Amino acid sequence: MQKYESWGRYPSAKPETVKPVFWQDEIADLNFSSKSLLPYGFGRSYGDSCLNEGGVLLDTSGLNRFLCFDEINGLLRCEAGVSLAEILEVIVPRGWFLPVTPGTKFVSVGGAIANDIHGKNHHRGGTFGCNVTQFELLRSNGERFICSPTSNLEYFQATIGGLGLTGVILWAEFKLKPIQNAMIDVEEIRFENIEEFFEISAQSDRDFEYTVSWVDCIATGKNLGRGVFMRGNHNQSKYQSKEAVNKKLPGTVPLDAPEFLLNGLTMKAFNTTFYHIHLQKRRIKTVPYDPFFYPLDKVDRWNKLYGKRGFLQYQFVIPSSDNHRAIREILGRISDSGEGSFLAVLKEFGHIKSPGMLSFPRPGVTLALDFAFHGDKTLRLLEDLDGTVRRNAGVVYPAKDARMSAESFQQYYPNWREFEQYIDPKFSSSFWRRVTSPGHIKG
Ligand SMILES: Cc1cc2nc3c(=O)[nH]c(=O)nc-3n(C[C@H](O)[C@H](O)[C@H](O)COP(=O)(O)OP(=O)(O)OC[C@H]3O[C@@H](n4cnc5c(N)ncnc54)[C@H](O)[C@@H]3O)c2cc1C
Repeated sequence: MQKYESWGRYPSAKPETVKPVFWQDEIADLNFSSKSLLPYGFGRSYGDSCLNEGGVLLDTSGLNRFLCFDEINGLLRCEAGVSLAEILEVIVPRGWFLPVTPGTKFVSVGGAIANDIHGKNHHRGGTFGCNVTQFELLRSNGERFICSPTSNLEYFQATIGGLGLTGVILWAEFKLKPIQNAMIDVEEIRFENIEEFFEISAQSDRDFEYTVSWVDCIATGKNLGRGVFMRGNHNQSKYQSKEAVNKKLPGTVPLDAPEFLLNGLTMKAFNTTFYHIHLQKRRIKTVPYDPFFYPLDKVDRWNKLYGKRGFLQYQFVIPSSDNHRAIREILGRISDSGEGSFLAVLKEFGHIKSPGMLSFPRPGVTLALDFAFHGDKTLRLLEDLDGTVRRNAGVVYPAKDARMSAESFQQYYPNWREFEQYIDPKFSSSFWRRVTSPGHIKG
């Protein structure tokens, strides 16, 4: 039987039941169990926001039909369990692309809405939710709402970024973006430190649709925050390259990697090598969209590289501060801890506001990185980082979280109380119980 775990494989949480869903009408009665319910897409959330310990998971991956494609206006309607990978196969040859895509294409449309995902074009396109025109929400009392910016607006806003708690999204419609072909013109620039990152970022956001950086989170001193900046635009010539779609995964990680592979030395070696591979200051190339957007998808189940204990991902966004003091402080703490990750991802979010009540992205600089799970030591470090994020008016991303305290969550997302009104009474998740449990609730 398929294992229903999250991508970080920490914490483990066993649902009492998993109900696979194949037909929209089949789930009309959501009261078949006395336990709480939570939809599950492809489990690409890193922590416990897609888990429901002791409850029911509704596996929505069987809701996988395309419903309508308006090729003139670039509007696609499909069931919530369709993956972004399946969508790309259909739309790219027809001259369309996803409005927003995360760093993996193996996520469902329902999951993309419920976490209101962002991508390398946040400064131009906002979040996935900004591009959703409507969806149908099924509540446990059998009611079905069509939600859009003009109809059932509160449920629209609560469900985008609503962590699967407002009901089941049955299908969704969203806007696509026109492209000439499947290639991306990419420029890679090596930067020496965090100051240089901000200089390149400011200039790139004007001229490039996609921007992101890999950062060496082991580097210290004058090299603090050094890395490789990647920026790209859709290629504008009118041809289709056959090599553009890379369907085959070249490798897979079948077993859990032994823990000795993941120590400070391997981490340092990896970060240093990655930085020096890009020996040239600047490299320009045109590549298929697949390796540009989804480099990690090349190795199937790469999450097993972190061994049986799993790993934690940590992503936060903090508003820009004088001399980038806050991000320098956090990078310094991470490199001092020696715990850092193989690669950290750094980007500046733009100012486009998401319609979602609990959406994570907001203006500022965002950093995402993995930490192999080493028990209390790792938890203490992340708790410490939370303190800095809180003091600097930042927030941590629930889709990547497995351990933030209720106090932190409630400070990050003060409108969680308003959101709570729209939670379906039958729905809950391990994450939600953890961050709102009685005894932790403020005032
Ligand atoms: C390699 C990698 C790179 C990533 N890069 C990014 C990134 O760049 N940006 C970003 O934002 N995220 C990123 N993520 C996180 C990922 O995009 C999100 O967690 C995404 O929401 C996962 O979708 P899923 O289908 O796997 O959903 P799950 O993880 O299974 O579920 C996510 C949430 O959606 C809810 N849900 C699922 N289906 C439905 C439905 N039908 N109705 C209602 N609720 C539903 C679930 O209850 C849960 O709360 C990345 C993840 C990985 C593994």
